[in-house]
Amino acid sequence: MSCPVTRPAIAFLDLRAVNAPHQEAVRRATDRVLGSGWYILGKELERFEQQFAEYCGVRYCVGVGNGLDALTLILNAYDFPPGSEVVVPAQTFIASVLAVTQAGLKPVLVEPDPQTYLIDPGRIQAAISPRTRAILVVHLYGKCCAMKPITELARQHGLKVIEDAAQAHGATYQNRKAGGLGDAAGFSFYPVKNLGALGDGGAITTNDPALAERLRYLRNYGSQQKYVNEYVGGNSRLDELQAAILAEKLPRLDAENNRRRHLARRYLDGIRHPKVVLPPADTLAEDGWHLFVIRHPDRPKLIDYLSQYGIQTAIHYPIPPHHQQAYPDLRSLSLPLTEQLHREVISLPLNTVLHDDEIDWIIRTINQAPL
Ligand SMILES: *Cc1c(COP(=O)(O)O)cnc(C)c1O
Repeated sequence: MSCPVTRPAIAFLDLRAVNAPHQEAVRRATDRVLGSGWYILGKELERFEQQFAEYCGVRYCVGVGNGLDALTLILNAYDFPPGSEVVVPAQTFIASVLAVTQAGLKPVLVEPDPQTYLIDPGRIQAAISPRTRAILVVHLYGKCCAMKPITELARQHGLKVIEDAAQAHGATYQNRKAGGLGDAAGFSFYPVKNLGALGDGGAITTNDPALAERLRYLRNYGSQQKYVNEYVGGNSRLDELQAAILAEKLPRLDAENNRRRHLARRYLDGIRHPKVVLPPADTLAEDGWHLFVIRHPDRPKLIDYLSQYGIQTAIHYPIPPHHQQAYPDLRSLSLPLTEQLHREVISLPLNTVLHDDEIDWIIRTINQAPL
C-alpha cells in the first residue's frame, strides 16, 4: 500500500478549535469575574448552580472541584456504615471505582451488557449482598443506563442510585436528563467533556434537600459560616471563573449535542465493514455521544491503518480497573466481557468542530480497510 494521506490530518480532539466559538463568551465571563474581586463561592457559582439544576431538571446543584470529588462527596455524604459495598460497572473509567474506594467503601464490579457496554441490569441482583448500600451507574460514552430496571432493583433492596454522569451532560433517558435519573449524580467539567471548563470542575445534582445541604458543608471544610466547622469536610469547590465560563457555555450545550448526534448518525449510516462493530443506535437521539466507540478484533492494526490516513483515534479505555496495579485486590476477578471490550474498543473522532466531509472521509477509509 502506498502512503495514502491525501488530505489534512484529523485530530481526535482539538480543544482550541472546540473552544473557539465560545471565545467572546469566555472573555465576557473572565472580565466579569476579574472585575468582581470575588473568586471562590460567590454569585457566579450560585448562578451556574441554579442554571445547571434547572437544565438537568432537578432542584439542587452543588459545584465542586472535579468529577471524581463529586462522586466521592456523594458517597461520603450518605455516611454508609464502614464495610458497605457499592455496585459499580467493571467497564468504566477508573474514577468511578476510585470514588468508591476513596469514600472507604468496597466496589463490587458488574459486567456490562454486551450490546450497550453499560452495566447489565440483569447481573446486578447477583452482586447485591446484605452490605450493599448503593448502585453507582455510569452513563458511559454519553449513553444513559437502563434506569428503569435498575431503579426498580434499588427500590426493592433499599439502595441509593448514584449516577456517574461525567460523560452524559444533556443525555436523556425517557425524556429526562442525566443528573435527574437517580438519587444523586456527579458531573465533571474536565475540558474534554460535553460541557467543559478551562480547567477542572465538577458538580452534584440531586432533588434531596438534606443531601445538598450536607454537600455544601463537605465541599468547604465542613463549614458554611466562616471559621465554624460542623463536619470534617474537605476543600473541593467550583471556582467563580470556571462557573462563569460554564454558565456562558451551557446555553449552547443542546445545540452542540445535536451536532454530535448528527455526526453519530452519519457514522452509523455510513460505516459498513465486516469486522467493525458499531455502537448501538437504538437511542441515537437521546445519547450525548461523548464518544463514538467502535470495536475491531485487531485493534492495533486498525489504529495503525487509520493513522496512515491521518485519522487520529483514542482508546477508552486500554486497561480495565480490575487489572490496574492500583487495585491488586481486584486482580483475581474474571470479567471476560469487560476484558474483551477493553481489548477491542476504538474511539473515532467525534466533536463539535468536525465537518461532515471529514466524517465521510473517515467512513470511506474504514470501509476500505483491508483488515
Ligand atoms: C471524566 C470522568 C470522571 C472524572 O472526572 P474528573 O473531573 O476528571 O475528576 C469520572 N467518571 C467518568 C466516567 C469520567 O469520564
